[in-house]
Amino acid sequence: MIDLHCHSVFSDGTKTPAEIVRMADSKRIRHIALTDHDTVAGLPDFFAAKGNAERIAGTEISIDFSPGTMHVVGLFIDYKSAELTAKLGELLIARKERNDSMLKEVSRLVDREITENEVSTSNLGELGRPHIAKFLIREGVVADMEEAFDKYLAKGKPIYRERKRFSFEESAEMIHAAGGITILAHPFSMRLEKDAYLPYIKGMTDKGLDAVETYCSYHSEEDTLFFNDLTKKLGLPVSAGSDYHGENKTNVKLGKWNCRLHNPENVLYALRKKAEQYR
Ligand code: AMP
Ligand code: FE
Ligand code: FE
Ligand code: ZN
Repeated sequence: MIDLHCHSVFSDGTKTPAEIVRMADSKRIRHIALTDHDTVAGLPDFFAAKGNAERIAGTEISIDFSPGTMHVVGLFIDYKSAELTAKLGELLIARKERNDSMLKEVSRLVDREITENEVSTSNLGELGRPHIAKFLIREGVVADMEEAFDKYLAKGKPIYRERKRFSFEESAEMIHAAGGITILAHPFSMRLEKDAYLPYIKGMTDKGLDAVETYCSYHSEEDTLFFNDLTKKLGLPVSAGSDYHGENKTNVKLGKWNCRLHNPENVLYALRKKAEQYR
């Protein structure tokens, strides 16, 4: 088995990179990619961890897009690249500024000054909305993650703040410059009309899209088959990733999604092949 999309404590997951490697081994996942949001900070630990699973360097970039959300996973990246670190640094600074602003809103809500450390001490990267959601649950303001997002944290809700995002072109350029390939993650989250997906994704291939994550926990079996058909028409390789977030998304399991993947090694082979052109 493979899992080419998951998150650690370096973004909004709850497991350390080393724990993820151990879990991969216990689930017989032979190849695993760590793809924390907007960062490569967890990758040194990921590669240093003891374990048998082959490690693949990745990151996941949130793209400036509407109506839904567009995420692009970069795989096989040179995570030590100075240009990549500098470029991701822009997002890190933007996230810090946004967190300051969101924490002011949280402080108003609970009527006392809330610091980053109070929200989370277990994460090793920059805070994200899921950390704030869990804080609101602990405070008894909301019952669960869903309520936290519905009432306060989703786009347009009181605590939500926009943050700087890259365009798809800018992200693709950054990932390719670091030797990686670009994968459109969980495309269903873009919330386009069904008929609009084929022309839209075709347009993205002209702008540097290399593959589409069709197997993922966000997709129903029907969605996966729909996107498999679409990628076939476009001649694009597919990818497969759980988008594991540990206890932050309890219904998502490492190495699991809703549609059977029969040839994981072939999927990985095709993606690797695609990466050769960026070396
Ligand atoms: P951020 O990077 O801080 O904008 O937070 C984005 C994270 O929040 C993503 O990992 C999502 O999985 C999570 N998220 C976004 N919307 C929701 C939602 N409605 N319910 C639960 N988690 C969400
Ligand atoms: Fe996330
Ligand atoms: Fe994502
Ligand atoms: Zn993800």
